[in-house]
Amino acid sequence: MGMLFNAIHHFETITKHKRLVMKNCFAVGLYRQGLLHDLSKYSWEEFRTGVFYYQGNRSPNAAEKEVKGYSAAWLHHKGRNKHHFEYWIDFAPDKSRGLIGNRMPLCFLIEMVMDRIAACKVYKGADYTDASPWEYYQRGRDFTVMHPATKHQLEKLLVMLRDEGEERTFAFIRALLKRDKNRRMRQRTERVWKTASSLFGCAKKSGTTGNSQ
Ligand SMILES: [Zn+2]
Repeated sequence: MGMLFNAIHHFETITKHKRLVMKNCFAVGLYRQGLLHDLSKYSWEEFRTGVFYYQGNRSPNAAEKEVKGYSAAWLHHKGRNKHHFEYWIDFAPDKSRGLIGNRMPLCFLIEMVMDRIAACKVYKGADYTDASPWEYYQRGRDFTVMHPATKHQLEKLLVMLRDEGEERTFAFIRALLKRDKNRRMRQRTERVWKTASSLFGCAKKSGTTGNSQ
């Protein structure tokens, strides 16, 4: 009975969270990410932690970690979900520098912001304010392994949310994503032109060689 209670409540918590993230991702045009966000939480590897360690007021992963020394659900989750900065941690090319945070692509950084807003809303309920995600971030700030540019961007957005609210921050995010999309399209066009011109150059060269023989 306890397990069934846990399973039902855990399902409700993660689905409520997922719905909030989806709403916010849709608001800034990240439709695919909004739909796919945290889907791995419904896999048995992650869901079972919710069944065995459901808490109600905090993540079951934290309880699992206290008991086992690690959380199997979290390790499974962060290895598959690019909106977590932990996904991007790896050894630097120069291994003596140890583990570092690689820079997160903008779309996943934005999904991370939406994730933090939704998580704070679910856990704080009526006590949530636009400052909550910044306050939560600050508690772990000194221990995060994040690329400096990613850290700077995340902090800028969380401070903007705290000081100017969701509407203005989301408008700013939409503009950021639009600029990023245009930049990536320009780069893709340049790459296509480069490939086409190098292929054309090669064909011309081999044709010349063929004629001279
Ligand atoms: Zn996640």
